[in-house]
Amino acid sequence: MDDLTELYQEIILSHNRRPKNEGVLDPCDYQAEGYNPLCGDRITVYARRDADQRLRPVQFLGEGCAISRASASIMTVQLTGVTEPEAEAKIDEVVELLTGEEEPDADLEALGDLVALIGVRRFPARIKCATLAWHALRSALRGEGAS
Ligand code: ZN
Repeated sequence: MDDLTELYQEIILSHNRRPKNEGVLDPCDYQAEGYNPLCGDRITVYARRDADQRLRPVQFLGEGCAISRASASIMTVQLTGVTEPEAEAKIDEVVELLTGEEEPDADLEALGDLVALIGVRRFPARIKCATLAWHALRSALRGEGAS
């Protein structure tokens, strides 16, 4: 289990250091800001909808702890190129993986870097850091993040 923890940390630190898809997206079709007062994380997510009705690109800009930034980075990778309903389903799935009562029995291999976020379950105080970007994107898709 310690090896696994180390692997989780490595994935999170590497996304924090070299985030994917970081930067303001202007113009964009969707935008919302998420704020986690418990930790001070502030993440803005952006997305455009392409001609095939798929989210592309998905970007974020944020300041916060390594977990919140890594989670946002992983999210942009996972949700680029999916349709809106697929994105909503994926967001539900990830939030459930992170906050569900049951220990997740998901196919860990299939989760890719998401697996590192599941490691955060053991630190309940940090779960809001890990779900922040996902909640923000859901708000953006539902038009609740207009500024
Ligand atoms: Zn945080």
